[in-house]
Amino acid sequence: MSVIKNIGAIAKGMSITFGEMLQPTTVENYPDGPGPLKGAQFQERFRGTHVLQRDENGLEKCVACFLCAAACPSNCIYIEAAENTAEQRISGAERYAKVYNIDYNRCIFCGYCVEACPTDAITHGHGFESATFNASALVYRKEQMLSPTPAHMGSNSVFNHADVEAGAPALPQAGS
Ligand code: SF4
Ligand code: SF4
Repeated sequence: MSVIKNIGAIAKGMSITFGEMLQPTTVENYPDGPGPLKGAQFQERFRGTHVLQRDENGLEKCVACFLCAAACPSNCIYIEAAENTAEQRISGAERYAKVYNIDYNRCIFCGYCVEACPTDAITHGHGFESATFNASALVYRKEQMLSPTPAHMGSNSVFNHADVEAGAPALPQAGS
C-alpha cells in the first residue's frame, strides 16, 4: 500500500510541475525595465536596507534605547547615544542616536531589530542595490538611512518647528 501511496504523491507533485510548465513565463527586465526601480518588483513585506524614521514634526524617532542592538543576532548594529539639549533637539525624547551604523556585511535581514524597536524608529525599506567590492561601503551610517524630512517641514526645519509647535492657525469666525 505504501508503494501506491508514494506513486500517488509523485504523480501529485509532477502534476503541479507540468501545470506550471504550461503557464506563460513572466520576465522582470531588471535593470532595463521601466520605472525608478528599473523593472524590479517587490512584495510590500520585502525586507531591504533599513530606514530610520522621523515623526510628524521631523524629529528622529530613535531614542537610542539600544533594544535593536540587543535583539540583533548578528551583532551588526552600532549606536552611540547623546542627550538632546534645549538648543539642539534631534529626537522627541531625552536621548538620540548620535551614531547609528548597520554593518550589511553581517546583517541577515531577519527583522528582529524592527520588532524590538519600541518607537517604530527602524523599519525595512525596499533598498536592495547594495552590492560593492568594498566591504567598508557596506557599513551604512545614520545619514544614509534617515528618512527625508517630511514635506510639510520644508527645508528650513528650525522655522517650521516653531510653526508646528504653535499649532494650526485659528479658523476665521463666522460673520467676521
Ligand atoms: S535585520 Fe536582523 S541581522 Fe539585520 S540589523 Fe536587524 S536584527 Fe540585525
Ligand atoms: S532604533 Fe528603536 S530600538 Fe534601536 S535604539 Fe533606536 S529607538 Fe531603540
